[in-house]
Amino acid sequence: MSEEQLIGSLPRTRRHPPRLTDAYGRSITYLRLGVTDRCNLRCQYCMPAAGIRFLPRHDILTFEEMERLVALLVGMGIEKVRVTGGEPFVRRGLLHFLRSLRAIPGLESLHVTTNGVLVAPLVSELKELGIAGINLSLETLSREGFIRITRRDLFDDVLRTLHEVVSASIPLKVNAVIQGGVNTDAIVPLARLAEFLPIQVRFIEEMPFNGRADVETKWDAGRILADLRAAYPQIRRVDERSSTASVYEIPGFAGTVGIIGGHSRTFCGSCSRVRITPAGKLRTCLYGDGVLDLRQLLRSGAGDRELATAIQARVLGRARDGFEAEAGSALGSSYSMATIGG
Ligand code: SAM
Ligand code: SF4
Repeated sequence: MSEEQLIGSLPRTRRHPPRLTDAYGRSITYLRLGVTDRCNLRCQYCMPAAGIRFLPRHDILTFEEMERLVALLVGMGIEKVRVTGGEPFVRRGLLHFLRSLRAIPGLESLHVTTNGVLVAPLVSELKELGIAGINLSLETLSREGFIRITRRDLFDDVLRTLHEVVSASIPLKVNAVIQGGVNTDAIVPLARLAEFLPIQVRFIEEMPFNGRADVETKWDAGRILADLRAAYPQIRRVDERSSTASVYEIPGFAGTVGIIGGHSRTFCGSCSRVRITPAGKLRTCLYGDGVLDLRQLLRSGAGDRELATAIQARVLGRARDGFEAEAGSALGSSYSMATIGG
């Protein structure tokens, strides 16, 4: 056998690009993928009443482009993908897209973040396609409060989704952005959902991404915890591996509560995530404007190796934390979370 024949007869394994790691040794295993910037609500903390300047359709990645990127990133170490937006369910063909993501070999879990307005009738299909968990945004249990915060009268649709997701035993997290002067009185009633339901209710510090140029209200993680402690003095912190939320148990509760110090940036040290925006920008931090234009690369015919090299370089240039990213950024609060893929 010649040398060439010998080499040709050896089993071949596919060479993957190197696993994504940043300059501080953090592995990147979690991708948040924004599939649209459009939305059927107008939450005050996310966008103005008139909405934002939504992207023309051509500027948004196609599902095929997104699927290609996800498959490439899974080969580079991404284990978990969360589909978000805007409101992901307003994009036509979303269920089909979720199914195709689910079929990507090596992807361990697929999650979705939604406002729940359109989801109740789709819950059984989501269950059947193997969605690993749903995050549902809900800032209050009062209908009037809901209308004031979201500027839409769709409270019943969201509650129906909550009910269906719990009934289908899909792991559920309820996310509530807390704004001083708006919904701090909803903290305890929302926490009580976890008394009877095996879910996690998470309170999120408001971040300055509301599509306007004003400052966020200050009801930080410490104040949220103080409100919870006043109602539940026995509340006790429990750890959850590399979670962005500080998780708490309350005696007698079926579920847990969490607090996300997104603005205090308490979890940057263990951050394992990157984002791809609906326009195909790779972002390595919410607070920074250092981005890689994947759409431009894809549409100019870049091959997988070129994409992987560019992604790895962008990840290596990632800031140490959200404060460093913000310091070097021209991003202002006129940015909406719906554009970033929150
Ligand atoms: N429309 C879906 C929803 O509301 O769940 C998904 C997109 S939304 C932009 C994703 C997450 O970002 C939601 O949990 C929402 O509460 C959060 N979010 C939006 N604006 C925020 C802000 N200014 N501060 C903190 N979280 C925010
Ligand atoms: Fe829409 Fe979600 Fe933003 Fe609310 S938070 S306006 S539901 S994208």
